[in-house]
Amino acid sequence: ISFAHFGFDEALLDVIIKHGYSEPTGIQKQAVPVALSGRDIIGIAKTGSGKTAAFIWPMLIHIMDQEELSKGEGPIGLILAPTRELASQIYIEAKKFAKAYGLRVAAVYGGASKMDQFKELRPGGVEILVGTPGRLIDMVKMKATNFRRVSFLVLDEADRMFDLGFEPQVRSICDNIRPDRQTLLFSATFPKKVEALAREVTTEPVRISI
Ligand code: AMP
Repeated sequence: ISFAHFGFDEALLDVIIKHGYSEPTGIQKQAVPVALSGRDIIGIAKTGSGKTAAFIWPMLIHIMDQEELSKGEGPIGLILAPTRELASQIYIEAKKFAKAYGLRVAAVYGGASKMDQFKELRPGGVEILVGTPGRLIDMVKMKATNFRRVSFLVLDEADRMFDLGFEPQVRSICDNIRPDRQTLLFSATFPKKVEALAREVTTEPVRISI
């Protein structure tokens, strides 16, 4: 399977090639076609596998397919990450490819100014938002953003989010996003608690492990 098999358009293929990616990684080969078909995914994958692009590319295609893209505000793609470091890495990877379509990306996380992040999100908003669970909730409370338009949700490193005590925040966010969304959950390990959450937040998921 090459990038051409994904059916990506010229704009996205150009950016992918420009970044020196010559072939999809294993997780990308498995996850991208499933995600493009609209199915939910439970993925067992570690950082370094290329999992970020595996969810960012289908997210971009999903966003470009939305009729309400020009209407309303608030992200359409939302990514939850356990730490500031991971959120920043995802942000950088998302920015690279979002350029292909002129979509806006922002990252919010603890340990940085809420006011600065508030200003980054308002006015106009972004189509893709990545953040740590607590700070995402803070931003909604401050009315910097809302989850009304979110229809593509990613939970990255779900096991670490549990380890860091974010379970209540993760559940609260998932409960406030429309149930007909597409959900992709990635975790390096699958203890029972993560398995239970994965079952709860996904619908007839396809399981992928690498
Ligand atoms: P990740 O597992 O998402 O953190 O990605 C690990 C690293 O691999 C990042 O630096 C990505 O930019 C890079 N990467 C992702 N997909 C590919 C690919 N198909 N070819 C080459 N590098 C890639």
